[in-house]
Amino acid sequence: MTTPKLEEIQQVTQIFKMLSDPTRLKILLSLQEGERNVTSIAEQVHMEQSAVSHQLKLLKDNRIVKSERQGKTILYSLDDKHVVDILQKTFEHIHHR
Ligand SMILES: [Zn+2]
Repeated sequence: MTTPKLEEIQQVTQIFKMLSDPTRLKILLSLQEGERNVTSIAEQVHMEQSAVSHQLKLLKDNRIVKSERQGKTILYSLDDKHVVDILQKTFEHIHHR
């Protein structure tokens, strides 16, 4: 691995910053099983829809979550396999000794 550029270091710290919030993490975990709409996410994480929407926008702006319009609803999902892997690997790491 070559030495990362300062810009890349900042991008990575930004990703970790997004992940270092329990609420956002819960939202991301609720998306591990697949795409869901805001109502469904809010129910699962026991939060107000408006609060979930706010966090989803942040996560989307940071390319951790993506959204797709399906008729009248917007479905959210983890941006790609890398995000799935980051979450999965981190949980694996806390579970082994
Ligand atoms: Zn480990």
